[in-house]
Amino acid sequence: MMNFDQTENQKMVAQMVRDFAEKHIRPYVMEWDEAQHFPREMFREMGKLGLLGVLVPEEYGGAGFGYFEYVTAISELAKVCGSVGLSMAAHNSLCTGHIMTFGNEEQKKKWLPKLATGEWMGAWGLTEANTGSDAMRMQCVAKKDGDHWVLNGTKNWITHGISGEVAVVLARTGELLDSNGITAFVVERGTPGFRGGKKENKLGMRASETAELIFEDCRIPDANVLGNVGDGFKQAMKILDGGRISIASLSLGIAKGAYDAALKYSKERHQFGQPISNFQGIAFKLADMATRIEASELLTLQAADRKNKGMSVNKEGAFAKYYASEVAVWASTEAVQIFGGYGYTKDFPVEKFYRDSKLCTIGEGTSEIQKLVISRAILK
Ligand SMILES: Cc1cc2nc3c(=O)[nH]c(=O)nc-3n(C[C@H](O)[C@H](O)[C@H](O)COP(=O)(O)OP(=O)(O)OC[C@H]3O[C@@H](n4cnc5c(N)ncnc54)[C@H](O)[C@@H]3O)c2cc1C
Repeated sequence: MMNFDQTENQKMVAQMVRDFAEKHIRPYVMEWDEAQHFPREMFREMGKLGLLGVLVPEEYGGAGFGYFEYVTAISELAKVCGSVGLSMAAHNSLCTGHIMTFGNEEQKKKWLPKLATGEWMGAWGLTEANTGSDAMRMQCVAKKDGDHWVLNGTKNWITHGISGEVAVVLARTGELLDSNGITAFVVERGTPGFRGGKKENKLGMRASETAELIFEDCRIPDANVLGNVGDGFKQAMKILDGGRISIASLSLGIAKGAYDAALKYSKERHQFGQPISNFQGIAFKLADMATRIEASELLTLQAADRKNKGMSVNKEGAFAKYYASEVAVWASTEAVQIFGGYGYTKDFPVEKFYRDSKLCTIGEGTSEIQKLVISRAILK
């Protein structure tokens, strides 16, 4: 039976994140957004609080928490800045999560402490220019050469593609469309033949760096292969199942941030001699927002609970990600409407929630792909 009360740990994490965000993030949110500045130094500070290794056991330098604390931390951050929430989610769930889940002892000892403390930022490269939803068709190849692998190709849309000190990269080691033909490699920045490429100029999530990874005869030792050769695609699908809980949390935080701002504004803004919250048209919007946000939270916590118990989250992670991300887009749109013309300016926070929210229905599998995952699960 699921307990709906926040644990003491969750309350502690929420307070810590709120205090941190007020001091280190909120004052700079619009400056970073306008300049598309990725605040690398701020992430070092976040690392000191354990926020870059939330799920990593303490023996590897992490906070050793579970998924409830993880959901809390990301959603609290996203209430203040979606970009920071996205970068935290990608760093923890994707790069760090992949090494933690599929790395051997030596690999975990080598990379996890640096990632968990924020000394290094992590990237995770699955997507390519021509293969997004259809990742299995990837073209980036790794060919065996003695006790090394030679990587050639590019990855696109990679969070921390330029600034990340280490990346987990999925590359083809077998035939096209062979689900056992893809392998996961750890590639450190500075490895000859590996560099970051074009940085995307985005609608939202502008302070979260999104860039290309380029490999030109990049030699990677056998010791950097995660798990078995050929298991990379299955590993990536498992990492995304868990990662979707982080995007659901990000969506939840954005929706809550937009709702909180709209609720407050509706009581302060007067038209026709009364607060606009007195109009049922506005009050009902807020009621719908509150209800859908609550439903998003329950789905996200259900997936977190199952993940904590070691159960499959294939369907439940997709439920949470699909629903919460659509709610984030819808709720932030309604928030702009409640703010009227002011909502359309950068003087109020809702236009940023509106822009940031859209990533949530796209990254780590679009809404359509979530429906594919869900329909496969319920029809099997
Ligand atoms: C800000 C940002 C950060 C990102 N970070 C990372 C990262 O760190 N690492 C990484 O590997 N990737 C990352 N991505 C990539 C992201 O995961 C992909 O953009 C996403 O998977 C969609 O792929 P695509 O953009 O190629 O869209 P496409 O796959 O080309 O899809 C286009 C449209 O077609 C629809 N579609 C596709 N196939 C089907 C189908 N079978 N049925 C119905 N509809 C379908 C899609 O839902 C979508 O609406 C990031 C993307 C963004 C925008």
